Amino acid sequence: MTADTTPPILEVSNVEVVYGGAIQVLRGVSLAVPTGSVVAILGANGAGKTTLLRAISGLLLYQNGAITAGTVKFNGKDTTTGDSSALVRAGMAQVMEGRRIFAPLSVDENLKTGAYTRADKAGIKASYEQVMELFPRLGERRKQVAGYMSGGEQQMLAIGRALMANPTLLLLDEPSLGLAPLIVEQIFEIVKTINGLGTSVVLVEQNAAKALSVADYAYVLETGRVAKEGRGEDLLHDPEIEALYLGGDSHDTSYRSLKSYRHTREYSA
Ligand code: ATP
Repeated sequence: MTADTTPPILEVSNVEVVYGGAIQVLRGVSLAVPTGSVVAILGANGAGKTTLLRAISGLLLYQNGAITAGTVKFNGKDTTTGDSSALVRAGMAQVMEGRRIFAPLSVDENLKTGAYTRADKAGIKASYEQVMELFPRLGERRKQVAGYMSGGEQQMLAIGRALMANPTLLLLDEPSLGLAPLIVEQIFEIVKTINGLGTSVVLVEQNAAKALSVADYAYVLETGRVAKEGRGEDLLHDPEIEALYLGGDSHDTSYRSLKSYRHTREYSA
């Protein structure tokens, strides 16, 4: 991490988000991503994690959603009503949940689409070479149709494509979703490497243990609000976080136990 005097690369202040003019999903969310850091966003299904990423990256518009209060600042500039393409050009790239690669296109063609905002040929070539270095598996499959690759390879391709935009801030929405443990390990290692190369990262994850182990700082969302925040390593050893999110090997189990934990807490209070 850089010194505290460096302004945060991303600052979200008291943001409220409403879908369809009626359904309020975020209720005054604030967070900061210090330049050069990894920040994790945790929370149960439906807590608003993806919505928060959409609010940051200008994608709410496509979901009939809007920021109705608060501000988002990227690199110190107000981007609350920012257009997603302009944000990519300014250095923000997002890997959406579910590995939205172009299935009929080859690995190389997919990667090329990631550089759509750039015209600097030498820079694009350098990014491509960096992606090949980070993901040797993609290098072996350059001409392969992406839709036939494994889930892990597709996730690597989705991250590689985002890196082709040469982002200073990378937003990752559940990169470990549905992947085998060994591949999950690799994905998190790559997240650390990407961060080590200087890219700030916002990581939305259901795999709280993994996310907290790579995150400098983390926020826990509950029904559209920040319920808890702290340094990754502190939250990793926080009894409440352990009970709610780190309770078992299966995330489903820990999320199911969330309800009964709350129930117990309410009745014992
Ligand atoms: P998950 O882990 O299941 O992806 P999440 O924490 O990312 O959950 P969101 O996907 O942001 O949560 O959803 C938060 C709430 O907003 C949910 O109640 C969801 O139904 C609602 N929601 C999400 N997208 C839309 C939309 N386009 N229109 C209306 N409601 C939406």
